[in-house]
Amino acid sequence: MNKNKIMLNEESARCLLCHEPPCSKACPAKKDPASIIMSLRMDNYKCANIKAKEELEKYGACGESCDNKMYCQRNCTRGKIDRPIKIRMIQESIYRE
Ligand code: SF4
Repeated sequence: MNKNKIMLNEESARCLLCHEPPCSKACPAKKDPASIIMSLRMDNYKCANIKAKEELEKYGACGESCDNKMYCQRNCTRGKIDRPIKIRMIQESIYRE
């Protein structure tokens, strides 16, 4: 397993799989990072990659609509326990898989 995949596995494993995920609700571009993370949790890299590319085409790159304020991460429930899921890093890394 390559280093990128290990990081994606580890980080997605930390996700709490929230009901009505605050990360996705907070995105001004209407991206759905929780859905991508869910696919990663199911080891479905292909689906996560397709979803990320579709969102890129439809809504543009991460950081464009929020001016790099990363509302997804700032609203991540996991952040209340220890640290938020590295959503931005997941979004950028999934294109390599
Ligand atoms: S808010 Fe954080 S913990 Fe909840 S689904 Fe989104 S990434 Fe996972």
